[in-house]
Amino acid sequence: MPGLIVVHQPDRLSMSLTQAAGKALVPRLERLGLGTVGDLLRHYPRRYLEPSTLTDIGALATGERVTIVADVERVQGPRRTRTGLFVLTASVTDGRDRLALTFFAKREGPLAYHAAQLVPGRRGTFSGQVSTWQDGRQLTHPTYEMLDDEQAEGRARERAGWPVPLYPLTAKLEQRHVRDLVHQELTGLGPSHFPDLLPDEVRARRGLLTWAETVHKVHEPHEEADWRAAHRRLRYQEAFVLQAELARRRARAAAEEAVARPPRAGGLLEAFDARLPFTLTAGQREVGAEIAAELARPVPMQRLLQGEVGSGKTVVALRAMLQVVDAGGQAALLAPTEVLAAQHARSLRAMLGDLAEGGLLGGAETATRVALLTGSASSAARRAALLEAASGQAGIVVGTHALLSDVVQFAELGLVVVDEQHRFGVEQRDRLRAKAGGHPHLLVMTATPIPRTVAMTVFGDLETSVLREVPAGRSGVQTHVVPAGRPTWLERTWRRVREEVDGGGRAYVVCARIDPDSEADRDADLVVDRAAPGDDAGDDALLDDDGGAPAEAPARPPLRAVLEVVEELRALPVLAGVPVGTLHGRMAPEDKERALADFASGRVPVLVSTTVVEVGVDVPEATVMVVLDADRFGVSQLHQLRGRIGRGSAPGVCLLVAQVEPGSPAATRLETLERTTDGFELATVDLGLRREGDVLGAAQSGASSSLRFLRVTRDAEVIEQARQDAREVVAEDPELERHPLLREAIEAELRGDRDEFLDRT
Ligand code: ADP
Ligand code: MG
Repeated sequence: MPGLIVVHQPDRLSMSLTQAAGKALVPRLERLGLGTVGDLLRHYPRRYLEPSTLTDIGALATGERVTIVADVERVQGPRRTRTGLFVLTASVTDGRDRLALTFFAKREGPLAYHAAQLVPGRRGTFSGQVSTWQDGRQLTHPTYEMLDDEQAEGRARERAGWPVPLYPLTAKLEQRHVRDLVHQELTGLGPSHFPDLLPDEVRARRGLLTWAETVHKVHEPHEEADWRAAHRRLRYQEAFVLQAELARRRARAAAEEAVARPPRAGGLLEAFDARLPFTLTAGQREVGAEIAAELARPVPMQRLLQGEVGSGKTVVALRAMLQVVDAGGQAALLAPTEVLAAQHARSLRAMLGDLAEGGLLGGAETATRVALLTGSASSAARRAALLEAASGQAGIVVGTHALLSDVVQFAELGLVVVDEQHRFGVEQRDRLRAKAGGHPHLLVMTATPIPRTVAMTVFGDLETSVLREVPAGRSGVQTHVVPAGRPTWLERTWRRVREEVDGGGRAYVVCARIDPDSEADRDADLVVDRAAPGDDAGDDALLDDDGGAPAEAPARPPLRAVLEVVEELRALPVLAGVPVGTLHGRMAPEDKERALADFASGRVPVLVSTTVVEVGVDVPEATVMVVLDADRFGVSQLHQLRGRIGRGSAPGVCLLVAQVEPGSPAATRLETLERTTDGFELATVDLGLRREGDVLGAAQSGASSSLRFLRVTRDAEVIEQARQDAREVVAEDPELERHPLLREAIEAELRGDRDEFLDRT
């Protein structure tokens, strides 16, 4: 384009801050990960104070780190204390409540300086940690800046009415340090330093700021509308970069080749269908047809199958596996734990009957074999399973991560089924792909209903199918909350367990941790109700408050542990004569197997366990589940847990034992579970109640998280728009050759923690 020469000066942004910042500041900035000018400019304010709006002092909590806008009311001192120190006290007010400011010094001089600044009637921002003092609250040695500096000239005067940006800080770094440094750098940079990764037409279509405008307005807004517009662009950009990457993955996947595995007449699948003891639900037929058609194409299927526990996903997956076996391929089924892998193998063999006895006397003619490969199998069993996989004798190979180890070879891997996606990542998928010597078809199953925005964000490169109905004949589950503090209620709970056992049922008792003496083994997925200012406050609160420690949670009794609860139950008169077993992740695999087998057979009808039972364990006689410390589990997790009961003809009862404050988020979660069994409704509730980081996984929750502005819980529309735009851009330019900045942004994201984020698929 003649006449339009854009001079890139990226060096300016990659320049170290050592020249710009004072010597003392450099290490403090480094502690925030800020080494270059570019880093500094990507260090966005966490929120903004409006100088015209006084902070509600009454709402400040002791221990909280705060930055507030207030008016100076009164100053006393400096005066000498009995210890010889000098003290200056001032009080600031929002017009209703007041807060004391206290400064100590060895000499009078520094205090006189504060006294000169803190003139009654003047307004300022004050930062510090709230403590109690006498019968009021105070900030000791706050940092502060006066907003209405009458003597100020030029910039300071001009800025007086602007929103005050508040940056995440580290010790000995003050807001004004960062602000002044940012200002200094912004002044030296022109639009050419801020080339835009968003294509112009996209920016125009969505009415977004340019990148240069965004950087200026996010750091130095002149009014609220400025930073809001900057945030809108930043939010959109996060969604766009992510969706562009997902679009690129989809486009690549569509260009890959897979071996087509069309259905074959007279094969295993037909034989299996002919002897199915039930008719498939409409959903199973529909999804089954979808999958059958995709397997028949020479492009790898990439499909996510969602369905409640018990909705019949396994049957759908098995039918897909049989189609692949009929077409000369093998299928691998990956389960998240050894217990589940073993159970999958057992139930697949049971469903297949003699169709799984290939090569054996009495096996059906078309039969294949189901091999189970786990890390813990005996070496002989392992060798046999490895051989069956490598020779192709086993059409279906079931296992955990062990399937990904280098020693496992497949003769002709055609389909990978992953049960419960979140523990398997893209990297593992790639390894399986390498084993397949190409691209196997992929079916991911999840029992956790995933709301659409999350699916678009986290699983954007998979197509989705949903099994909505649960096969008829299920008796369902009644759920009740039992207050933990009421001995008579607890007694009734255990009596109920006794009654179920006497009636031939089984009971699960679920605990949040294994060992009463160890905190280390608590369940990683437990929910902790943290104050989450960022989630409901709209645009202005991005992370925790001023980077300080959250206020202490009130003390609560320690979590109940499997090893102590099992002893208590064994000693309980109402359970006299009832064998009580345990199941948890620290048991040896063969002990786990035995515990489950004893439970299934009824020899040990009460099983105290951790959430190991969460996914897939199938004991139709299980009719009661007691969850201790239920308030510490997520909604979806509890829903999955209770899916373990009421699977047979007898109805199930789920008793959620918890100590909750009426009206608290935990109480809301439990009440929702009492009220409904609709998995999608629960998933939505879960999403609304949980923090973003919990939704997307731990890798997303830190301050360095790459999703800083986007909220999948709130920004469905933005995600939708970005997805459309990204699809268009990628369709025209799949490798983003005309969009080098976008490509760089994606690569930068993928180098960081976003990688893990996408790897959750
Ligand atoms: P999921 O894997 O979704 O939890 P499963 O496939 O394990 O569900 O099915 C749960 C139970 O329901 C199994 O015992 C299965 O045999 C049975 N089942 C599956 N589909 C049907 C159906 N269409 N009608 C009746 N029972 C079914
Ligand atoms: Mg299942």
